[in-house]
Amino acid sequence: MAKAPFVVVGNSAAGLNACEALRRCDQATPLILVSEEPTAAYSRVATPYYLCGEIGDATLFFKDDAYYERLGITRRFGERVTAVDPSRHRLTVEDGEELTYDKLLLATGSTPHRPPIAGLDATEVLPHWTLAHAQAIRERSREVSSAAVLGAGFISLLTINAMWKLKPSIRFTVVELQPQVMPNLLDPPAAAMLRRRMEASGITVRTGMEAVAVSQQQGRKLVHLKDGSRLDVEMIVLGAGVRPNIDFLHGSGIACQRGILVDERMQTNQPDVYAAGDCAEGFDFLSGERVVHAIWPTAVEQGRIAGVNMAGGSARYPGSLSMNVLDAFGLTLTSIGIFSERPGVEMYSFTSANGDVYRKIALRDGCLVGMIAAGGPEEARSMGVVQQLIRRRLEIHRWKEALLRNPGIYGRICQESQQGPGLGRPPTATASASRRGPV
Ligand SMILES: Cc1cc2nc3c(=O)[nH]c(=O)nc-3n(C[C@H](O)[C@H](O)[C@H](O)COP(=O)(O)OP(=O)(O)OC[C@H]3O[C@@H](n4cnc5c(N)ncnc54)[C@H](O)[C@@H]3O)c2cc1C
Repeated sequence: MAKAPFVVVGNSAAGLNACEALRRCDQATPLILVSEEPTAAYSRVATPYYLCGEIGDATLFFKDDAYYERLGITRRFGERVTAVDPSRHRLTVEDGEELTYDKLLLATGSTPHRPPIAGLDATEVLPHWTLAHAQAIRERSREVSSAAVLGAGFISLLTINAMWKLKPSIRFTVVELQPQVMPNLLDPPAAAMLRRRMEASGITVRTGMEAVAVSQQQGRKLVHLKDGSRLDVEMIVLGAGVRPNIDFLHGSGIACQRGILVDERMQTNQPDVYAAGDCAEGFDFLSGERVVHAIWPTAVEQGRIAGVNMAGGSARYPGSLSMNVLDAFGLTLTSIGIFSERPGVEMYSFTSANGDVYRKIALRDGCLVGMIAAGGPEEARSMGVVQQLIRRRLEIHRWKEALLRNPGIYGRICQESQQGPGLGRPPTATASASRRGPV
């Protein structure tokens, strides 16, 4: 009897990296890829650049027919999985058809969160997560002169920046519940720099403010705010975070909390069922706590680990790191790992004389555990090396001043630290860093 296929659900970062890892280990077992979205894979990360017209289809779609054929993938695109029954090794697609699997990977990603705002379902509000969303925002942006954006997180900022590039004449008002923009990814000084840039670009930013209701009337949209005021605009963009796509697993026996619970092998609590990417809840590299890090590199790595293990190999994921880069309104902002104060973590920061550059590093037991930087494009260049320094848990205390002054030396520190203690003198730093901690 023919072996049952591997089935991967999700045609994006996690799912595709799993398919590639599976095929490196096993070329014989049939491989089925199911995806609700009807198209070949495209880069979600690139949709803001697509929205503002900086890139076209050729760059956005990063896999073509030949790719799927080369990997021997049977495509079932435009089909939504509605249920999984691990006891029978079967899943159900939307039209009721059942598919049997040998090993199953759930890589279903996430979906925009719809907060409990009155009138949300009766009003046109546009989220940004899929290509279809980006296309809808692009079309509406061309028609309007005012927009309200609910939420000032990472995706909202990318979206406003893209809309602003597409049509700078739009009058934007951003409403954010927390006291600063990008509350989960920036500390107050970096957020203040970003806010200043946004305001200098004509964007109204209302932090510490809640949108309690939305409504629409003859093409106008109203956003009712908690202080009793209201915004009268032509378009509303919703950016209130994302939630893992796990609802269809209800009753399946696959354990979920915020996302699908996985171990270091990306295996769920059910035999032969794996999960990876935005829908998976694994472990944080630094704290060891359960976490969903909805970022592309985590999805890539988790997908690869899952694929190896599904094919009978043995690979373990050491845990994910929060890691983000935002280029918006002429400012590059990066954050990685821990950057808010907590016991045992020492914070050191540097601000340039003209206030255009801000950097902060976080050390625990002399090892780098986090960083924030805001300034020019060069601030993003060291992210890969910073990640290596954190993951290798290298002792870098003696370099802290130099690191704050010159992010270009991260690579050199990485090299020298590998050669053992006592080698090389840290470059001299002329400005002293301010120190806070341990707290
Ligand atoms: C505008 C934007 C910008 C971003 N920028 C960055 C960035 O700069 N850096 C970064 O690290 N991350 C960024 N991200 C986040 C990043 O795109 C995600 O973390 C990444 O796409 C997650 O990959 P994934 O494979 O887990 O899930 P997804 O990319 O969400 O893919 C999920 C797949 O599952 C399919 N699917 C879902 N449910 C079902 C179902 N029931 N049945 C069948 N198929 C299903 C979907 O059709 C899709 O193919 C950005 C995201 C957006 C939207």
